[in-house]
Amino acid sequence: MTATVATSKTAGTQINLAQWTEGMKRSLLRQMLAVVSRPGILSFAGGLPAPELFPSEAYAEASRAVLTDGAHSLQYGPPFEPLKAHIRELMALRGVEVSEAEIFITTGAQQGLNVATRLLLDANGQVMLEKLVYTGIQQVVAPYQPQLLTVSSDLEYGIDVNGVAEHLVAGAEPAFLYVIPEAHNPLGVSLSLERQQRLLELARLYRMPILEDDPYGLLQYDDSAVTPLRALDDEWVIYVGSFSKILAPALRLGWMIVPEPLRSHLTVAKEALDLETSGFIQRSVAALLDTGHFPTHLAQLRRAYRARRDAMLTALSQHFPATARWTRPSGGMFIWVELPRQVDTMALLWRAVEEINVAYIPGTAFAIEGDRTAKHCLRLNFSNASEEAITRGIAALGALLRTVC
Ligand code: PMP
Repeated sequence: MTATVATSKTAGTQINLAQWTEGMKRSLLRQMLAVVSRPGILSFAGGLPAPELFPSEAYAEASRAVLTDGAHSLQYGPPFEPLKAHIRELMALRGVEVSEAEIFITTGAQQGLNVATRLLLDANGQVMLEKLVYTGIQQVVAPYQPQLLTVSSDLEYGIDVNGVAEHLVAGAEPAFLYVIPEAHNPLGVSLSLERQQRLLELARLYRMPILEDDPYGLLQYDDSAVTPLRALDDEWVIYVGSFSKILAPALRLGWMIVPEPLRSHLTVAKEALDLETSGFIQRSVAALLDTGHFPTHLAQLRRAYRARRDAMLTALSQHFPATARWTRPSGGMFIWVELPRQVDTMALLWRAVEEINVAYIPGTAFAIEGDRTAKHCLRLNFSNASEEAITRGIAALGALLRTVC
């Protein structure tokens, strides 16, 4: 499963690939998702929102209205300003006051990460990030062949701020520190306010930008949610948001809030990637938000996902071995499970798929290259299965786990 992609002088072709591709791994995650998405498999593997909760009807109406309003929605064009007013309101829900001038529209959060990296990271520069982290950021920085400065995280409060400080004290000068403040992917933890404040102190002291990735920020299920780092600092934080989890991922729509000095460079960096974000999608999402139903939609998402999270937490405590530990996420879509060290969750995945038709993602899939700390861990997604299926699947997985721990 860790096969390196055949690189330069690939069999059957003389095409030389760029040097950085020599270290390129096929995305383990995507490979596994292909295997476990067979019919009949109950998958806790992917990070998919619940399709039955997509606002499909309302979106169909909004798109039709936009199309019948004139051909300009299908033309090249500048960012659609009325959408920014809606994003400003979403940011206010996150406790962040921004003006429309500070908002930069992107083609999904993934593009936000790409654009920020393009602007900040030199070839062979340094990037600071957690040992276990969203694979998408690992892929974004890979072409720059950076030195990855890794930091541990704990399952209660998130990234280890002392670890960040140690790198900085030792002279590190990272292009940025990458963090997921709320409902971390894959760990399911949220950064405590105290750690946020300490991170920002370090950012200011060492002049270190923080790339704050917040796609799950509006999916909160408890009262414990904290505001993002951007609420506390507008100088060092580059904030990335997304409509993928609160409307639908196929819209490929997101946004950034970026410190003033970087703003003029953003458009140019983005142009290199896709010229511009689809004007049609921007207008149709703005039209959908104009209807005023979003707060009801968001409340419905939160209710449904909270019930699924709770069903999974209950099933875990009933069926998983007493030696297992897991996170209790206050939002998002993922629970992280630690099993006794002797368990190899990669090997066990194939038994889970073959014997009980249940899939998850082994912890190793999220580890920075060479890090072995998550061999006995796994990530479970709870947004894409019914409560009944969650209870059934976790019971079956628990029974299988009890045969090995
Ligand atoms: N960041 C994180 C932490 C994610 O989990 C994801 C998607 N799963 C993204 C970014 C990318 O989101 P988008 O669909 O908006 O590009």
